[in-house]
Amino acid sequence: MRIVLLGAPGAGKGTVAKLLTEHDGSVQISTGDILRAAVKDGTELGVQAKEYMDRGDLVPDSLIMKMMEERLQADDCERGFILDGFPRTIPQAEELKKLLERLGIALDVVVNLEVPKDVILDRLTTRRTCSNPDCQAIYNIKSNPPTEDGRCKICGSPVIQRDDETEEAIMNRLETYNEKTAPLISYYEKEGLLKNILSLKSQETVEKIKAALHT
Ligand code: ADP
Ligand code: ZN
Repeated sequence: MRIVLLGAPGAGKGTVAKLLTEHDGSVQISTGDILRAAVKDGTELGVQAKEYMDRGDLVPDSLIMKMMEERLQADDCERGFILDGFPRTIPQAEELKKLLERLGIALDVVVNLEVPKDVILDRLTTRRTCSNPDCQAIYNIKSNPPTEDGRCKICGSPVIQRDDETEEAIMNRLETYNEKTAPLISYYEKEGLLKNILSLKSQETVEKIKAALHT
């Protein structure tokens, strides 16, 4: 499958994307994960991106497009991909369209994960992330806590609160989403690719997405 997952921060894009990859061998491409790994490794991209990310602002489109042009041409994309966190702005969506045309491939569907605002806020403030950039497992101090001493159940690394998960940065990310990313919903509706899915439980969401792929 070749799909784009849209949704506010905290809508569960990462969790749903991971579950979808188990379905047919498509690869999850999370721009947030790629950027966090770049920051951790101290690459040129990471150094340039960090200040934006820590504030909860978007990283400039030019950096994102350079990164994604390379990523989408890697061999592991041949069986399909699930884009999680990209595109995030109208210019990114327009550039993606051109890029896919050049590569001769098309998106199957763009899924908009709809989650009520109070649920989003609760999830964001209780979310914790594995600090190992190769793992980045997501935990929740209420519904899915790490081990008692605060370690990742998968790789044993410390589980932390991300720099962009302070209350101030969370508010900024939500504002940025409304202003820059929400317009993609009507963009993809016009393109005839949009599917709105109410997303409260990730497993049910995955089933709804699979069903949408067959219609
Ligand atoms: P969330 O969806 O929870 O905000 P992500 O992990 O998707 O978190 O992204 C974290 C940060 O990485 C964003 O706040 C932003 O600074 C940056 N980022 C990720 N994807 C993009 C993108 N497509 N364009 C611009 N910035 C991005
Ligand atoms: Zn881990």
